[in-house]
Amino acid sequence: MGHKITLIPGDGIGPEVSSAAVRVLEATGLSFEWDIQNRVGAAAVEKGDEPLPVQVLDSIRANKVALKGPVTTPVGKGFKSVNVQLRQKLDLYANVRPAQSLPGIRTPFEDVNLVIFRENTEGLYSGIETYDERLEIADATARVTRRGTERIIRFCFEYARRHGLHKVTLAHKANILKVTSGMFLRIGEQIAAEYPEIEFNDRIIDNMCMQLVIRPQDYECIVTTNLFGDILSDLCAGLVGGLGVVAGANIGDEYAVFEAVHGSAPDIAGQDLANPTALIRSAIMMLRHLEEPMAARAVEDALYEMYAENDNLTRDVGGHASTTEFAEQLAARVSDKCAVAD
Ligand code: NAD
Repeated sequence: MGHKITLIPGDGIGPEVSSAAVRVLEATGLSFEWDIQNRVGAAAVEKGDEPLPVQVLDSIRANKVALKGPVTTPVGKGFKSVNVQLRQKLDLYANVRPAQSLPGIRTPFEDVNLVIFRENTEGLYSGIETYDERLEIADATARVTRRGTERIIRFCFEYARRHGLHKVTLAHKANILKVTSGMFLRIGEQIAAEYPEIEFNDRIIDNMCMQLVIRPQDYECIVTTNLFGDILSDLCAGLVGGLGVVAGANIGDEYAVFEAVHGSAPDIAGQDLANPTALIRSAIMMLRHLEEPMAARAVEDALYEMYAENDNLTRDVGGHASTTEFAEQLAARVSDKCAVAD
């Protein structure tokens, strides 16, 4: 029996990086049945549908697992982010975003290996915004709940324990946002006491940013609220080679949606230029979630080899290959590895 997966190619560079990821996944020799959901975001709205149609949610509920390309969100107007809606509607409360150095890419650091745990369903992304037209005052509510906070922080500590990691840092702004960020910090301190083997500390978010660009090697797990996590993960992407290389996963108790940190990159869409590494690394996380560790290892090893050998890399990381050329080369390496393993 193969793995039945909902595939949301998305828009912008989404279809290009998604087909590259599918090509590489299929090279493992595992069998996948793709339930393709093309109609999301602007593509759905143009056809008179909701930006996140119910059939997309139903497909993920049935299959439990999705691989997703980026979906464009109109800025300052238009429909609510499909990405945020998906996370909220499926209660995918943990956004797990590893930032790991790859060999062969020139960056200021060679040994970054940290994971950001971003609370994914509340905070400033709760969608509670009001506008008083007469007074021209706009408000947004950053809702933080005990339940939401406990589960993301516990998720982070459990991940650290499972992966043999020793440090958790909680990023906050409790000096100013004494109630919301203060509660997140207080609950973090309470939960940390249940994990005495894991070193726990906290950083105010502005200092956290400064520390990360100076000494990223000091951090292993960083847990934080929604908006801070969103910003920190792009910062960490910059430390390890950019948005083309960093993966992500949205995990809940019932469903999991694997997607890169990056967006739809309209500036390079449709040109076969995008780096599919980020989505392929998300796909590696998906393989582990599907309990396919051998296939995950084969793709990861092949990917690291390509980077170490500077073989067919894309333009964003200093190479000249197209998205398709990169994917073909990686798929060939993966299928060689998997044939040997057979
Ligand atoms: P972006 O991540 O799309 O692009 C930022 C920069 O990084 C661009 O210069 C782009 O070319 C580059 N880049 C991104 N991914 C790349 C890749 N795989 N290979 C090479 N270069 C890559 O961010 P943005 O421009 O701020 O956002 C564009 C749209 O994407 C917006 O509508 C935003 O809302 C949406 N977005 C969606 C998601 C998601 O679907 N999860 C995430 C972030 C942003």
